[in-house]
Amino acid sequence: MPRPRQTKILATLGPATDSLKAVTALIDAGVDIFRLNMSHARHDWAARVAGLIRQAADGRPIAVLADLQGPAIRTASVETPFQLQPGQPFTFTTDDSEPSPQSVGVNYPGLADDISPGDTILIDNGLIRMKVLAEKTGAIECEVLVGGEMGSRRHINLPGVKVNLPALTQKDHADIKCVLGLEVDFIALSFVREAKDIAELRAAVADAPRPPRLVAKIEDQHAVKHLDPILEATDVIMIARGDLGVECPYEELPIIQRRIAKLCQQRGCPVIVATHMLESMIASPHPTRAEVTDVANAVFEQADAIMLSGETSVGKFPETCVEVADRIAKRIERSGGANYHKAAQLNDPREKLAHSAVRMANDLDAAALVVFTREGRMVPEAAWMRPRRASILALCLNEPVARAFALHRAVRPVVLPWDEGDPDEVTDFALAELAKREILQTGDTVVVISSELAVESIADSIQMRTV
Ligand code: PEP
Repeated sequence: MPRPRQTKILATLGPATDSLKAVTALIDAGVDIFRLNMSHARHDWAARVAGLIRQAADGRPIAVLADLQGPAIRTASVETPFQLQPGQPFTFTTDDSEPSPQSVGVNYPGLADDISPGDTILIDNGLIRMKVLAEKTGAIECEVLVGGEMGSRRHINLPGVKVNLPALTQKDHADIKCVLGLEVDFIALSFVREAKDIAELRAAVADAPRPPRLVAKIEDQHAVKHLDPILEATDVIMIARGDLGVECPYEELPIIQRRIAKLCQQRGCPVIVATHMLESMIASPHPTRAEVTDVANAVFEQADAIMLSGETSVGKFPETCVEVADRIAKRIERSGGANYHKAAQLNDPREKLAHSAVRMANDLDAAALVVFTREGRMVPEAAWMRPRRASILALCLNEPVARAFALHRAVRPVVLPWDEGDPDEVTDFALAELAKREILQTGDTVVVISSELAVESIADSIQMRTV
C-alpha cells in the first residue's frame, strides 16, 4: 500500500474555490483543513461555504479553520487608486478627513499615540515604505521612501511598534459569534502579541458546546519575543510568514521559522507553516524550484501542516497546487526529517507511554499506531513523537472529535464505534473493521495503544498486533 502523507494540507477558500465542485476537487486532491479568512469573508459567505465543506466531505473528517482579522490596521477606502513617488510628503489622518493624493485615513484613531518620528510605516505587504517625520493630534506626517499605488483598504505594518489595539476587535467578536454557530473546528487569531490575547479568545469561545481549538498566528516581533508564554496558552501555532516577513527583516525569517518549528516540537504544540508556499502558482501551473525547496523545507522540519492562501483562494490552479504540495510532502517524508522532537522533555506518564509506543512502531516498521480515543487523549502525544513511517489511526467515537485531529501530523482520524465490550474483542473488531475499510491490510503489523479502552479493567497498555 502506498505510504500515506503525514504532513497535513490546509487550503484557504475564496472566490476561485467557493463552489461544491471546487471544494470536492480540493478534498480529493488531498486537503485536510479549509481556512475561511474572516478579514475578507462576509457572514453569509462563511455559512454557505462551511455548508459546502460538510457536504463535500461526506462524512470524511475534514476540518474548518476560521481565521480572525485581529488588531490589523488598514487604510481607508479611496475612490480611485493613486501613485506615490519617493521623496514626496504624505499624511495619515485619524479623523474623518477626505483622502487626497497627499493623505489617507486609517481605521485606528490611536495610531498617532503609538508611533514616533523615525518609525517605518509599510503599506500593502511592504510594497510602499514611509518614514514618520512627525505625529500630532489626528495626523501622522511621513516621507515616502518607496512609492507605489495606494489602493483602498490596504494593510499597514509597523515593524517593531507596539500597537495598543485590543486583541479582539468588535469585528472579531461578531465573527466569533458567526463561526461558533457554524461549529468550526479551529479559530486562528491574527497578530497575537502575548499569551493574554489567546486567553481572551479562549474566554470568548468558552461557552460554546464544543469550543474550537485555538491557533496563535505568529506574525510580528512582539509575538516572536513572547513565544514561550504564547506556546503555553495556545493549542496550535501558525508561522504566518506573510506579515512576519514584513514585520521582521526578511533574512531573519528562515531563522525564526526554524526556531518556532523546533520549539513547538520540543513542547508538543502543533505547528503550521503558512504563506507564499506556492505563490507563483496563483498564475502558473508549475511551481518554481525555490517553492519546491521551501515546501520541502517545511516538511523536513516536520511541521504538522502547510498552508496555501492565494494559491487556492484566488489562484487559477487550486487543485494543481494541492497535488504539488501532496507530491513534495510524500517524497520528502520518505527521505527523513529534522527530528526536533528528540529534544522534548517528557514529564507526563502519558507522554512517556506514547513515546514508547512510537519507538516500538519505528522498530517494528509498523504500518500504523492504532489509538482508541474518546476525547483525544494519547493521539496528540503520539503525533508529537513523529512516527517514522506509521500513520496514527485515531479511532474516534464521533466526527467532531475526529475533525479536531485533522491538523496533527501523521494522524488519520477514523470514526468507529468501539466503546462497548471486552477490550480484546474490541481490538479484534476494530482491526477487522480497518481492514474492511482498506485502511489496513491483512498481514500489517500495528501497535495498539489502549489506554482509554482499558477503562477500569486493565492498566494502560501497548500491544503489537498483526492484522
Ligand atoms: C500571513 O500573514 O502569513 C497570514 C497567514 O495571514 P493573512 O493571510 O491573514 O494575512
